[in-house]
Amino acid sequence: MHTCPLCTTVSQAATNPLHIATLAECTAFLGENQGCQGWCVCVLNEHVVHMDDLAIARQERVFAEVARVARVVRAASLRHRWGNDIQAPRINYECLGNVVQHVHWHVVPRHANDPTPKATVWGWTPEQLQGDATPQQRAGIAAILREMLKAST
Ligand SMILES: [Zn+2]
Repeated sequence: MHTCPLCTTVSQAATNPLHIATLAECTAFLGENQGCQGWCVCVLNEHVVHMDDLAIARQERVFAEVARVARVVRAASLRHRWGNDIQAPRINYECLGNVVQHVHWHVVPRHANDPTPKATVWGWTPEQLQGDATPQQRAGIAAILREMLKAST
């Protein structure tokens, strides 16, 4: 039987407090990792393993959605001073697929308080990656991004 954790995540988005938006190509969630506050993951709605298997026009639509989420994450970071930001954070865009082979993009805001600003986050410990936000705080971050994304284009 085909079991893909991200297919499951997409199919259960409606009851997920970390769901941010269901867009034409991707479903956006607040990431389980909140060591960078506002970290989002955009999951392709369909099970596809390789980004380059998508037609170019579709790749463009996917990335337009990823960039839209990134703009909202930058604006929210600044508005709410996530990670002590006094300017919008740098965004790391990552489409890896090493662990889960279903196209998804990480939108990782690297805030002012970032401990390793010149490296990727993947050298962090699991605890650093996860961050210390409570489930309620995570749902609150997701709600902020959900509202701001609705108002964005
Ligand atoms: Zn899948």
